[in-house]
Amino acid sequence: MKDEQKKGLRWTSQFIHTGHDIDPETQAVVPPIYRATTYHQPDPWNPPRWDYARSGNPTRHALEDAMAQLEHGVRGFAFASGMAALTAAFLLFDQGDHLLVTEDCQGGTQRVLRGVFQRLGIRVSYVDTSRLDQLEQALTPQTRAVLVENFSNPFLHVADIRRIAEWAHQKNLLVLVDNTFLTPYLQNPLTLGADLVIHSATKMISGHSDVTAGIIVAADEALAKRVYFIQNACGLALSPDDSYLVWRGLRTLPVRMERAQASADALARALVDTPGVTAVYYPGLPDHPGHDVAVRDMRGFGQMVTFRLQRPDWITDLVPHLDWIVIGAGLGGTETIISLPELHCHAALTPEERQAREITPDVVRVSVGLEDPHDIIRTLTEAVKAVSTSRPGAGPTMLL
Ligand SMILES: *Cc1c(COP(=O)(O)O)cnc(C)c1O
Repeated sequence: MKDEQKKGLRWTSQFIHTGHDIDPETQAVVPPIYRATTYHQPDPWNPPRWDYARSGNPTRHALEDAMAQLEHGVRGFAFASGMAALTAAFLLFDQGDHLLVTEDCQGGTQRVLRGVFQRLGIRVSYVDTSRLDQLEQALTPQTRAVLVENFSNPFLHVADIRRIAEWAHQKNLLVLVDNTFLTPYLQNPLTLGADLVIHSATKMISGHSDVTAGIIVAADEALAKRVYFIQNACGLALSPDDSYLVWRGLRTLPVRMERAQASADALARALVDTPGVTAVYYPGLPDHPGHDVAVRDMRGFGQMVTFRLQRPDWITDLVPHLDWIVIGAGLGGTETIISLPELHCHAALTPEERQAREITPDVVRVSVGLEDPHDIIRTLTEAVKAVSTSRPGAGPTMLL
């Protein structure tokens, strides 16, 4: 289909018709997987479009192009993992530079900052990016950028990217947004003022718990050139086979997100009414502190739900009752996955840091999958009920 024909398509349809044209020679409807690492150059003084796979690959390009369009940026880049994408973003900075980073960001982001980039002389302050006063306080003359997770982990604080970008651009800072939890389907940070959007495509975008991948989309050409230099120079790009799988994931992303977030919403409401649950964090709930920003800037509330059990020691009893639900570190797959932030996504923090951020053993994070919502809600609420009625000290009298 020609680009002009695609212009009138609604948002969901764009995910199905972006990033690949019907092959004029074969009429194939999906891009081929090109495994070649090198390309013949009959006229080496005028190098061809493709020359060497680390520098460029047509299958990877189909994905990068689709992501650039769906995120409303100028160019996309596919990386070997979400961490490879974040690494490429951090390599934009120099020794002595200072970054402001969302305080309850993904554990892997803190691990690479602490173990690699801080060692190399990049300084980092972790702040509550939903509070401009905290950003202002942490600002130094060397501050170069703000890295925001628009949906923080595990408590799903909602960042007001518009306000952060307005503030940051007055100070000449770059705004980097990790959009993994929302995906381009639910939010486009570049249209809210961000300069770079970063994804772990391992999660919802590929969507089947079978690919490790990352994406960056840049808002302008100058920044895109710098990201491309790093992707190529450091050899961080995604393989052709995995590029194809992520590209394929985009085709079903809207229908998967719609289904999963409808179930997440129903689960959050059911958990609110479940004895033994003392807090439910889901931005779709009207009393969630980020609800209004989410309504204004997002197309939905996503598929992640976090809740707190009445007592931390219940968690060991809960696990055997989870039945068919997967327990592990991932999210965004077809299957419902429960993570215990203390053991999984936030294992890289020290116990003191986890305590300070209230990431205690009573916190349970759910990545709601595509099973029948009744199964998800029944299994989880019955598991909590089973634990809360079998344990001594259970019941509302113990609520402090
Ligand atoms: C998983 C994740 C990452 C890291 O991505 P990988 O693909 O595991 O390397 C980064 N940011 C967020 C928000 C994530 O959930």
